[in-house]
Amino acid sequence: MKIDCHNHAEFSPDSSQNITQLAKRAIEKGICYLAVTEHMDLGFPLDKCPEGELIFDYLVTAKYFDEIKKARALVGDKIEIIAGIEAGYTPNDVELTAKKLSEFPFEYVINSVHICHDYDCYWAGYFDGLTKKDAYAEYLQAVRDSLDVPYAYDAVGHIGYISRPAPYNDKALTYGEFAEMLDDILGVIIRKEKILEVNSSTGGCGGLFLPDASIVRRYYELGGRLINFGSDSHSAERAGDKYDEVAEIVKNIGFKAWAVKRNGKIVMEGID
Ligand SMILES: [Zn+2]
Ligand SMILES: [Zn+2]
Repeated sequence: MKIDCHNHAEFSPDSSQNITQLAKRAIEKGICYLAVTEHMDLGFPLDKCPEGELIFDYLVTAKYFDEIKKARALVGDKIEIIAGIEAGYTPNDVELTAKKLSEFPFEYVINSVHICHDYDCYWAGYFDGLTKKDAYAEYLQAVRDSLDVPYAYDAVGHIGYISRPAPYNDKALTYGEFAEMLDDILGVIIRKEKILEVNSSTGGCGGLFLPDASIVRRYYELGGRLINFGSDSHSAERAGDKYDEVAEIVKNIGFKAWAVKRNGKIVMEGID
C-alpha cells in the first residue's frame, strides 16, 4: 500500500490546501492512505516572533472534522482519510496540549519538536553562537524529553528537523555523531511502541528523508519495525513526494511494512 501520513491543509497556518483537493491529488499519485496532520503548537513563543513570521498556534475546530467528512464523502473508498494532528512539543505546555488533544477525536497524533530554547529554529539568530554539536544535542534532548509527554501519541515526527534551516556546511544530523543520544531515543521509541516517521521534506539537508538513513538503519538494527512515510506536504503538489525513492531505500534497509493507524490501533500494511 502507498501511504502518506503527514500532510497539512487549511487548518494549518502555513497551508491553504483544501482537504478534498489534497485527497484527489493523493489518489492520482496512487496513495491509498492519507493522514491529514494539522499543526498544533501551543507553546509557540509569540512574544519573540519576529515581524513577518507566521504564527504557529492551533486552528483546528469542529470544521476540520466536517471537512474530513466532506472529503470522505466526495472521494468514496478510493482513499482512506485520517483526521490527525501534529502536536508540537514544548516542555511548559504539555498539560494544555493534553487538554486540547482530548477535545476532538484525533485518529493519529504526531509528536514533533519545532522549538528549542523558546525560539523557533527557522528564525534568524536561532543558531547564533551555537556549534553544530551544541545545537543538535540540545534539539535531540528536546526530542528525548518529548517522548515522555503525558498525552497519547502515535508517531515521532521528522527527527533531524533542526538540520533543515541549520547554517552549517555539513547539515545532516547523522547517527555516528550522536550515537549515544540516538540509541536512547530509538530505544524509547521501540519500548513505547511508537512509530518512527520517515519524512521526505528535508529542506536540502542531506539525504532524501529525515531522520537520516543512518538513523533509520540503526532503528532497524535495534529491532524497530514501526515506520511510516510522510511527505509533510503543505500543498497538494507535494503529496506523496519522493514516495517511491523512499520506499525503495527503507525496503533495502529491511523494512517490509508500513505502520499505520486504523480504528485506534497500529496495523501493518505491506510497502508498495
Ligand atoms: Zn513538523
Ligand atoms: Zn508537519
